[in-house]
Amino acid sequence: MVTDHGGGVWSIRVPIPDNPLGHTLVYLLDTDRGPVLIDTGWDDPDSWDTLVNGLAGCGTSVGEVYGVLLTHHHPDHHGLSGRVREASGAWLAMHAADAEVVRRTRQAPPELWLDYLIGKLAAAGAPDEHIAPLRGARAAGRGRVLPGGRPALPDREIVPGELADVPGRRLRAVWTPGHTPGHVCLHLEEGRRLFSGDHLLPGITPHIGLYEDPGTITDPLGDYLDSLERIARLDPAEVLPAHQHAFAGAPHRVRELLAHHAARLADLRALIAARPLTPWQLAQAMRWNRPWTELPYRSRNIAVAEAEAHLRRLVTAGLAEPVPGSHPVRYAVA
Ligand SMILES: [Zn+2]
Ligand SMILES: [Zn+2]
Repeated sequence: MVTDHGGGVWSIRVPIPDNPLGHTLVYLLDTDRGPVLIDTGWDDPDSWDTLVNGLAGCGTSVGEVYGVLLTHHHPDHHGLSGRVREASGAWLAMHAADAEVVRRTRQAPPELWLDYLIGKLAAAGAPDEHIAPLRGARAAGRGRVLPGGRPALPDREIVPGELADVPGRRLRAVWTPGHTPGHVCLHLEEGRRLFSGDHLLPGITPHIGLYEDPGTITDPLGDYLDSLERIARLDPAEVLPAHQHAFAGAPHRVRELLAHHAARLADLRALIAARPLTPWQLAQAMRWNRPWTELPYRSRNIAVAEAEAHLRRLVTAGLAEPVPGSHPVRYAVA
């Protein structure tokens, strides 16, 4: 459950209930003012107990925690932050772009999220039978229950390029947008060790969807690929990711991921070269970890977002374009 990584760094395997990822690695960094956590884990009683016991296993306690640095806003990273703050008085820090997502999530009524999702799926060309359950939930007044309830508002901002408030340590924030708009990696300059969050994992390609910010046109996959190159240039001696296990050789892993996305973009372009497709049709035609017809409902929504993120990249690169007048919009090669 607890791993001592040396140099005053430990990790605690905090379980994520009912999730194939299994657990989040919450890191503890020893500082002159007490332990600082990097991420906190999923908001669930078992996960909380694991975190509390893990801190005891590191020779400290949750009440001693001085601060919490969040790599990004996802509930498997930020879920327990509110409870840690209550128990310790610790500050919570997050990049401004993800703090904005948290603020929006807290303010938005559940119907707004459903309306947004229904609108997005319809625009992507999803068939009525796929959207019907969402319309039903909307009509019945049921909102999406957000995992982890209301996410905690951070008290501090993680500013890219600046050192974090970890007395006695040099921990610098590196902005790595892509998986989320405000994802950060944290570089422990003594020992050149990188806390990589979900940005760089040894055996998983993180999900790159759209940023789910109504009304903005962004290129998350383009951001992600740029962020990967930034980490390859940094060339840390060791990567401490938020899932799976620590590893060395960041530039090699970055090259693998760049090649993976380049191949996927080429496949996609070949598909729309054969005939113009809506994002939904494209998602159906792309290769996933199982056949499209066997993908669970939510996974299809994620798959469409992923297809759209790739389309957005092709459009931004001038390699694809929407077919004028098509509704829902279809994409062709430019
Ligand atoms: Zn994540
Ligand atoms: Zn994660």
